[in-house]
Amino acid sequence: MDRDPILLTPGPLTTTLRTKLAMLKDWGSWDADFNALTARVRQGLLQIIHAQDSHVVVPLQGSGTFSVEAAVATVVPRDGHLLVLDNGAYCKRLGKVATLMGRRTTIATRPEQLPVSAAELAALLQADASITHVGLIHCETGTGIVNPLAEVAEVCQRLGRGLIVDAMSSFGALPIDARQIRFDALVAASGKCLEGVPGMGFVFVRKAVMAGCEGNSHSLAMDLHDQHQYMERTGQWRFTPPTHVVAALAEAMVQYQEEGGQPARLARYTDNCRTLVDGMAGLGLRTFLAPEHLSPIIVTFLAPSDERYRFATLYAEAKAQGFMLYPGKLTAVETFRVGCIGAIGHTEMQQAVDAVGRTLRGMGLGPA
Ligand SMILES: *Cc1c(COP(=O)(O)O)cnc(C)c1O
Repeated sequence: MDRDPILLTPGPLTTTLRTKLAMLKDWGSWDADFNALTARVRQGLLQIIHAQDSHVVVPLQGSGTFSVEAAVATVVPRDGHLLVLDNGAYCKRLGKVATLMGRRTTIATRPEQLPVSAAELAALLQADASITHVGLIHCETGTGIVNPLAEVAEVCQRLGRGLIVDAMSSFGALPIDARQIRFDALVAASGKCLEGVPGMGFVFVRKAVMAGCEGNSHSLAMDLHDQHQYMERTGQWRFTPPTHVVAALAEAMVQYQEEGGQPARLARYTDNCRTLVDGMAGLGLRTFLAPEHLSPIIVTFLAPSDERYRFATLYAEAKAQGFMLYPGKLTAVETFRVGCIGAIGHTEMQQAVDAVGRTLRGMGLGPA
C-alpha cells in the first residue's frame, strides 16, 4: 500500500499533504509569530460564519468534547437549567456533561431516525419557565442526521432562552450564518470539516453573553471567559497551546478558502455522499435514515441481516484494502458508519465502495 489508509471516520480524518507538512516546525508559545498565527486562525473562523460583529471565538486545547464542556460551564450559570434536545449519542453526551457539572439538566428524547422538533421545543419551553438554555446538536454524528438549527434558534429567540449549539461535525460544510441565526454559543473543532488535525476546539460566544459569564465556570481549565480575557490581553493561550495543531489548522483553512469555502466543501461532501450511498445500494446495503434525512457528513448503514456478517471482518478486510470504516453507535439495530468528510473525493469513495463489495462477496454476501 503506497498511501496511508483513507479514514472514513468523522475525525480524525484524512488530511492533505500540505496540512501534514505544516506540522514540521516547532513554535514558541510566547512568540509573536505564533501569536499572529493564533490571531489569523481566530479571524478566519469568525469570517466563515460571518460572526465578526456579533461574537468572539475562543479556542481551547483538547478534543471537541472539551469545548462542549467548556461552553456549558462558561455560558450556563450554576443556577441555570439546560434543556437538551436529544436524538442520538452526542446529544446524550451533552446531557451527561451538563449533569456532571451540576447544572440542572432536562433531556427531551426523540427517535433517532427523526430530526428534533422546533414545535415540540416551543411547547416544552412554554411549559417550563425555569429552562434558561437549550442545547442542540446540529449534525448528530451518531446517525448523521441534521437537526433544524434555524427553526430551533428562532424558537429560542422568540421565547427568550439561550442556545448552545454543538456544530462540531457540520461547521465549515453546512451553511451557518451568525447574522441570521441567533445563538449564545456554538462549538466546533479543528479535526472535522475544516480538515485540520484533532487537538483543539473553538467556541463562538455572543459578545453580550460573554460579558456576563465571569465566574460561571466551576473549572479553571474549562473557563472560556478566563481564556478569552487572557488571550485578548496577551495574544497568547492561557496554558500550553497545541502549537502544531494550530499551524495545521491555519494551513487547512488556507486550502479551505482556495477550494471555495463552505459552498465548495459542501458540494464535494455531497458528491462523496451520493457516490457512497448509490454504490452501497448497488451492494444491497440500505441506509438507517430515510433518504430525506441523510447528511453529507456521515452515513449510517444497516448491517446485512445474514448471520455470516461480522463487522470485525468487514473492518479488517476494508482496512487491508486501505479504508477505515467506523462502527455503528446505535443500540437497537446493527449498523456501521461511513464518513464522507476529509480530504477525499469521488475516486476514494468509489474505491471504498469497491472494497466493501469485495469484502462482502468474500463473506459470501452481497447481491446475487
Ligand atoms: C466529533 C464530535 C464531538 C467531539 O468529539 P471528540 O471525540 O471529543 O472530538 C462532539 N459532538 C459531535 C456532534 C461530534 O461529531
